[in-house]
Amino acid sequence: MLQSHKFGARIRKLVVAALRAKKALYECPTCGKMKVTNRSFARWECRSCESKFTGGAYIFTTETGAIANRMVKEYQKL
Ligand SMILES: [Zn+2]
Repeated sequence: MLQSHKFGARIRKLVVAALRAKKALYECPTCGKMKVTNRSFARWECRSCESKFTGGAYIFTTETGAIANRMVKEYQKL
């Protein structure tokens, strides 16, 4: 019981973060406006120019993609 409570709190934090990211608006790569919203699972749409994108389920650019980009930048510095 104690353990499941601990687990639940951790998951809740992740869910809150995911929902917050899901509701957020992202910059559209096509028109540059902060109008990209999550339409459905991994599908994103710009409310300004109606461009459609696929990405992470909850965030526009997946965390793995962001980490990869950061690593590439770090390597370019060397
Ligand atoms: Zn757009």
